[in-house]
Amino acid sequence: MATGQNPNSTGDQIHWHRTAGPAPVCDRLSSRLSADVVVVGGGLTGTRTALGLAESGANVVLLEGRQIGFGASGRSGGQCNPMWRATPDGLAKRFGDALAGRLVETTLGSADALFADIDRYGIACDPAQNGWVQAAHCRSAQRGLEQLGKAWADAGADIQFQDKAATARTSGSGNYDFSLFHAKGGHVQPLSLTRGFAHAAMTHGAALFENSPVISMTHNGGKWTVTTQVGSVTAPQVILTTNAYSDDLWPKLRQTFFPLVSISLATAPLSAEQQASVLPGGVTIADTRRAIYYSRYDRDNRLVFGCVGSTDNSADFGGIARLKEGLVTVFPQLRDIGIEATWAGRIAVTPDMMPHLHEPAPGVLAGLGFSGRGIAMTSVMARTLVKKASGAAADTLPFAISPVSALPLHWASRKLIPLAAPAMTVRDKIDTMFNRG
Ligand SMILES: Cc1cc2nc3c(=O)[nH]c(=O)nc-3n(C[C@H](O)[C@H](O)[C@H](O)COP(=O)(O)OP(=O)(O)OC[C@H]3O[C@@H](n4cnc5c(N)ncnc54)[C@H](O)[C@@H]3O)c2cc1C
Repeated sequence: MATGQNPNSTGDQIHWHRTAGPAPVCDRLSSRLSADVVVVGGGLTGTRTALGLAESGANVVLLEGRQIGFGASGRSGGQCNPMWRATPDGLAKRFGDALAGRLVETTLGSADALFADIDRYGIACDPAQNGWVQAAHCRSAQRGLEQLGKAWADAGADIQFQDKAATARTSGSGNYDFSLFHAKGGHVQPLSLTRGFAHAAMTHGAALFENSPVISMTHNGGKWTVTTQVGSVTAPQVILTTNAYSDDLWPKLRQTFFPLVSISLATAPLSAEQQASVLPGGVTIADTRRAIYYSRYDRDNRLVFGCVGSTDNSADFGGIARLKEGLVTVFPQLRDIGIEATWAGRIAVTPDMMPHLHEPAPGVLAGLGFSGRGIAMTSVMARTLVKKASGAAADTLPFAISPVSALPLHWASRKLIPLAAPAMTVRDKIDTMFNRG
């Protein structure tokens, strides 16, 4: 696993397992199969890709090393945040006008596309498209957010600018002087969504296997054979969707991103009075802190609050204390609320904070590196992978195909990651002390 830790070795409880829809029933792969496409990884990217391919008539096998939704998709904050951290102009400078145009168009439609999918496949994942408050934690972050919001609004995004009073009204938090309100944003139960895509893929004929980690890939006669401990699948096309849980299956793939961690807590259900003053209207909130504070309701009016963490155990390096301090900073009215669960998950952060599409060999595709924006964007990537695997030309896709290149000093940065969260929190506090309006 990416950080050399065992994600099962913690005392954490992932809250989403308490409220998720039924898990798909999937065997362990124990025979030799052939297929048109093998998808490796059973998160949102993998299940949505398998669904798209199966719908197009392909014979698809998906292999998940643990259980469907084991990785980030079953641990996520579940916020649908349909915008990148770069402006459309910035994207055009990096990728050229034509590609950036396709990317911006896809991005603008990404939230509606996700909620339309949920309707179309009848996925019970407590969807709510009530908007996303993106709040600035200090003056310089406000300037950046104003520019970002204006650029995306000019490109067609439905964004309103909110001063301190409007931010407090829509979010219930007095902690921010400024925010953007993204009307298309929303939230889902992320494990239910992943399981829902898996069920839909199976209904359309895809074969999904759990407890089947792929341990090797070999190329022979124009086809790939992917091998698990007790089975194999041979296919002309393999799609890797292992994101931050990537291991060494494809050389250097896990060195293309920093495996950061996000930790979360779920509170006890809020009283009616508390609900009236915290995220009224069921919006979501995420802020500009380096240690990003984000929260939303679950279906039973518990608040799920998260920030950057250190390891696969949410308590390490003072994680729980930081979560509680963050919650009270944003919502002091919840000072005495009970905490029912805490957990951690890995985030694949790329240097440009954008997901990357790779084709490291003929017949092999990989889509990963969502940098904490995966709820809507995994579906964008999945549709892209389906299109590419079905023969579309590279210049029709919304992502550039980039080489798999290891980041310099990746091994060193991995060792420092546990310290990043406490360090980021200190920097954020300095910002809010000395850099307020
Ligand atoms: C705590 C947390 C909060 C987040 N909050 C948000 C949010 O609010 N909004 C947002 O947009 N994004 C959020 N994200 C990010 C988002 O959840 C992810 O970008 C998204 O879920 C990634 O999905 P995925 O399918 O690419 O990867 P994953 O869901 O991680 O799936 C990868 C799968 O690959 C499997 N795997 C790995 N190696 C192998 C192998 N060799 N063989 C077989 N299987 C293998 C793993 O077991 C895993 O299940 C959050 C992430 C975390 C961790």
